[in-house]
Amino acid sequence: MTTSFKNLRGIVTLLLMALAVPASAANPFEQGMVTITLDDGWATQYTKARPALNARNIDATYALISNALAQSWGGYMTTAQVRTLVAEGNDIASHTATHPDLTTVSATQLASELQDSQAWLVSNLNLPAVPNFVVPYGRYDANVLTAIRQSYASNRTVNAGRNFRDTLMYELRANDVHRAVTVSTVRGWIDQAIAEKSWLILVFHEFVDGTPTRDTQYRTSNFTAILDYIQTRGIQTVTLAQGAAMMEGRTDPDPAAGLPIYVDGLESGFDNWSWATHSLSETGVVHAGSTSISFEPDGWAGLMFHHSGVDLSLYQSVELWVHGGTTGGQAVRLVLHDGGQTLGSIGLDAALGGPIAAGTWQKVTIPLANLGVTSGTLVDLYFQDDSGADQGTVYLDDITLIPR
Ligand SMILES: [Zn+2]
Repeated sequence: MTTSFKNLRGIVTLLLMALAVPASAANPFEQGMVTITLDDGWATQYTKARPALNARNIDATYALISNALAQSWGGYMTTAQVRTLVAEGNDIASHTATHPDLTTVSATQLASELQDSQAWLVSNLNLPAVPNFVVPYGRYDANVLTAIRQSYASNRTVNAGRNFRDTLMYELRANDVHRAVTVSTVRGWIDQAIAEKSWLILVFHEFVDGTPTRDTQYRTSNFTAILDYIQTRGIQTVTLAQGAAMMEGRTDPDPAAGLPIYVDGLESGFDNWSWATHSLSETGVVHAGSTSISFEPDGWAGLMFHHSGVDLSLYQSVELWVHGGTTGGQAVRLVLHDGGQTLGSIGLDAALGGPIAAGTWQKVTIPLANLGVTSGTLVDLYFQDDSGADQGTVYLDDITLIPR
């Protein structure tokens, strides 16, 4: 009787473990895809990028500031030029009316930035709709996202990474190609998108033929080298609208599946605000999948993952795997923060019930109740050096919030 009860309990435990495994947050497309987005409507997008795109039959998405067009701002494209882009088959997204940081404006301005820009673009460019939004500076919070959802079907951020079919529609990831990004780096991203059948969105701003003098400028010859590589590799090019149409349309994380924070990269909704020396694509010491996080817990430095807001009342625990590298014994503290104050924190050694071990992976399950956190909004989750000293490399992998 005791034995069968134990077996039953074992089976139930296995079933519960299977349920607790996060759903793969990487539902691939049929093939890799790339989108060229051009932000703000700079005049050089028309004079320098457009000829290079047209010569290769690549349609792009232009994220436009409606007041720049309506008021003929200097250095920006004209409405007539944008009409030509539309006639040539390019895609238009809204990038607000005045390009403010939307997290700092009043509710009235937030609504008008979103709605007036969309209405202006629809009526002045004779478009049936402008369903996609590009948030200025990549800056948003829960309030901004709520407002975007009322007017748009998607939102492109500048959170780095690739998109999968189940990436959240209002937090589409994109890699900003600023002046310091080399062609070879972008080639690597394209190769990665092909290999994992993901959707890579690239962001460009201004173009110059000489040496860029601003971060937002990119050398035209490097842009054409990227377009040539896209054609050489044969990766499918889509506009933002075409890519968005191939998505599952997920707008919220599924709490029942758990909330993955890091699987083989930072998951949808999380932004890397780390200030410690670290890598989110460590391949040498990996728990599962292809990559892990390596982290130098020195001098109070930390890994920091930022989110617009996770309702912690839906979750019961944080799970992760830790590896102490060659030394073990590191003092590392997990902190949950709501953006204003610490909600709870614990040393990983205390959570493990012993030191972080060298040379092996250990699973850490931290019930939120043990941290005194039964509600509240998670905005920043961080792992911080708790010693102030110079400690050996620590590896982390498969970090997930487990649902109630
Ligand atoms: Zn912008």
